[in-house]
Amino acid sequence: MPATRRPRKSLGQHFLRDRRIVHRIVDAADIQADDIIVEIGPGRGALTKSIVEVANSVILIEFDEDLVADLTERYADNPSVRVAHADARTLSTSDLPEIGDRPYKVIGNLPYYAAAPIVRNLLEQTHQPELLVVMLQREVAREMTAQPGKMGLLSVATHLYAEPRTVCQAPPRAFTPRPKVHSTVIKLNVRERPAVEFESVDLFFTLARAGFAAPRKTLAGSLAVGFSKKPTDFAGLIEEAGLDPRQRPATLSMDDWGALYARWHSAAASA
Ligand code: SAM
Repeated sequence: MPATRRPRKSLGQHFLRDRRIVHRIVDAADIQADDIIVEIGPGRGALTKSIVEVANSVILIEFDEDLVADLTERYADNPSVRVAHADARTLSTSDLPEIGDRPYKVIGNLPYYAAAPIVRNLLEQTHQPELLVVMLQREVAREMTAQPGKMGLLSVATHLYAEPRTVCQAPPRAFTPRPKVHSTVIKLNVRERPAVEFESVDLFFTLARAGFAAPRKTLAGSLAVGFSKKPTDFAGLIEEAGLDPRQRPATLSMDDWGALYARWHSAAASA
């Protein structure tokens, strides 16, 4: 391995140094020998080492060309490991020949600046992973795992495709260099089908974005802001979905979003 380079702040390079957290992540992924593991942002290989000890097929997705070169050299003699230079925000897993139509799992200590877009890209793949175990900024993890009462747009976007749970916390001292923020590891068990039956995901998000356009207002008030209409335009539709126009958007469950979407879509179709 070449001499250690300075971590690139712009690429969110905070390398994990706490072995207990490495084990928590790897244990949460429940890796079996025949699993295909996609590791996002392997960096200097803190997680990779433990993954490679168990899995026979490991694909490393790294954006930093220098780290790609280091990892390629390190694993040159290991046919189980392939290193790919790619941006995980735009990666298509259908371009990874090892996967084909086989199940795969994703593991990653994600760069803070791109964690939400990376998770979103992976959850929106045509051939989705069966699960993700990822570390991200504590506040982002909190929103992704939030339950009805505290949900925002990112919570809905996450719960639409997966059942999320918190695995463990990681303080700044678990990394080098130390970040300014705290981190959390979460596990996302991907659903067999999305939690809401929709005609297209874009249509669903048209509604969900409007639903959170003014999250402190009532649901009717927020939809009115989002669609530039009056709250009274939405009261009937919300009641027909079995909801209360005065409830806050954060209180809706995924079943509630499904009922609201169905009413909204059929009202739009018959208008
Ligand atoms: N896995 C290592 C660890 O735990 O020590 C490194 C984690 S570090 C927080 C994030 C890693 O993601 C870095 O290696 C960084 O170069 C890489 N990275 C940054 N942006 C990326 C992107 N868009 N796609 C893939 N990897 C990225």
